[in-house]
Amino acid sequence: VSGSSPSPGDARVTTDPSRCVGAGQCVLTDPTTFDQSDAGTVTLLRTTVDSVTLIEEAVSLCPGQAIALTTKLDA
Ligand code: SF4
Repeated sequence: VSGSSPSPGDARVTTDPSRCVGAGQCVLTDPTTFDQSDAGTVTLLRTTVDSVTLIEEAVSLCPGQAIALTTKLDA
């Protein structure tokens, strides 16, 4: 994400399970948004965002670059 962060109301989180390497950093960072399937890849519990900071942290921690923070204006 370049520039300023979106406000929580405009922010959406997306994941790409094909890039997920199952490290689980996202689940540790925000267990209310991320979960892991039985196969160990990421699943989303919701696409809405309460804390942009927390999602930005998950994006930066994900070794597979499988998490993206977008705004609903992008969709
Ligand atoms: S941090 Fe990234 S690679 Fe690890 S489980 Fe979450 S989405 Fe997958």
